[in-house]
Amino acid sequence: QYSGPSYEKVLEIRQKHITPNIVPHFKKPLLIHNGHMQWLFDHEGRRYLDMFGGIVTVSVGHCHPKVNRALEKQINTLWHTTNIYLHPKIHEYAERLTAKFPGELKAVCFVNSGSEANDLAMLMARLHTGNQDIITFRNAYHGMSPYTMGLTALSTWRFPLPGVSNGIHHVMNPDPYLGIWGGAACRDSPIQTDRKCDCTSESGCMAGARYYDQLEEVFKYSLPRGRVAAMFAESIQGVGGTVQYPKGYIKKAAELVRANGGVFIADEVQSGFGRTGEHFWGFEGHDFIPDIVTMAKGIGNGFPLAAVVTTPKIAALLGQALHFNTYGGNPMASAVGISVLEVIEEEQLQKNSLEVGTYFLKSLAKLRERFEIIGDVRGKGLMIGVEMVSDRAARTPLSAPHVAEIWETCKDMGVLFGRGGLNGNVFCIRPPLCITYDDVYLALNVLETVCKQHLEKRLRNWRRNV
Ligand code: PMP
Repeated sequence: QYSGPSYEKVLEIRQKHITPNIVPHFKKPLLIHNGHMQWLFDHEGRRYLDMFGGIVTVSVGHCHPKVNRALEKQINTLWHTTNIYLHPKIHEYAERLTAKFPGELKAVCFVNSGSEANDLAMLMARLHTGNQDIITFRNAYHGMSPYTMGLTALSTWRFPLPGVSNGIHHVMNPDPYLGIWGGAACRDSPIQTDRKCDCTSESGCMAGARYYDQLEEVFKYSLPRGRVAAMFAESIQGVGGTVQYPKGYIKKAAELVRANGGVFIADEVQSGFGRTGEHFWGFEGHDFIPDIVTMAKGIGNGFPLAAVVTTPKIAALLGQALHFNTYGGNPMASAVGISVLEVIEEEQLQKNSLEVGTYFLKSLAKLRERFEIIGDVRGKGLMIGVEMVSDRAARTPLSAPHVAEIWETCKDMGVLFGRGGLNGNVFCIRPPLCITYDDVYLALNVLETVCKQHLEKRLRNWRRNV
């Protein structure tokens, strides 16, 4: 039972006292007051299926009983020491988290947010390589601290601050759907929508090679003596609209970066912890091992916790000076982190992500066959993007008011999706990994209904105009 201030009072406080940067979703914002697993409940007791997981953050389920118990136990034992003393939880967690990584990735530094993790990764890369320049993709989102704001390339997220982009190069996004080369077949996905790769030559798909040429040009023409500190990439671009790269591109890019003195940083903030289904880490889908990995969100199921994992050699350089983070790796966050790892394992959530996610993808691809408004369906596991278009052949994004209307109707019908991409026209699906086939069925039904409604509306308008 909701017992907080009235809905109107909450809106008033928000207007008067909360900075305007966080725009609430929906025309009539939801007042959510509790959650259980894949479900959220508003102040009037209405239930919503959470297909966005608090922006990919709730990995094992809202208020998961085991995670809650672990946190409660820790709260009654010890909250805080700022890591100036030893405490068992951070050590136990460090060992268990690094065990999840291949190769030399065995040193971890805990922080509190994805932006902090990416800041630290930049520092590590620059210290290790002695170089300054960093490469990211034009469509990337890597955080909102002044440092990472420079990495983030989406114009909608950028402020005119001096200095944030010093030494940062935004290279062409290897996007086979909206980019100039490629097609659905260039991507590593369990489904192929009908737009086949249109760049195939005798030696196979050329999209990856063409985008790679563009990257090489940046090394040749833009980097000082061709040297680089790092390249950042997500395994699948999240905020950018669930963008998948042509097969083989990332592995080749990492080789190029290393050959020119740099390290490769995989941002696994969205794609880690089993989200992509077939692997625990998204980068494993690209068949290479990065030098530095950053993670947040799903790592703590919503608790403020993030981390950077790297090799002991790269990590050693942080010892040159004191590097301090008051809350990083605190006992509560560590207890939560351990229990999240346990739940993923015990409930086989990576397997669930693969099975339920692949079924979801295939069903969405079928829905696309029936509705022109769905331009593209892509992703892996439970990291799915549905791109809404007004003209499928031209891939014209559906206009913002239409997207907003459809999105809002889904909410009114009880299913919450995210939105992403430069034009905000990609429905981002990132539910807690515990969702079931029944949940998928509900989400598909709602999507089918809104697509039908949109089509009927278009037909009515068309008839009126003839
Ligand atoms: N990297 C990626 C890929 C993200 O999606 C985000 C957050 N949306 C961040 C970094 C930044 O994380 P935080 O908001 O915790 O700083």
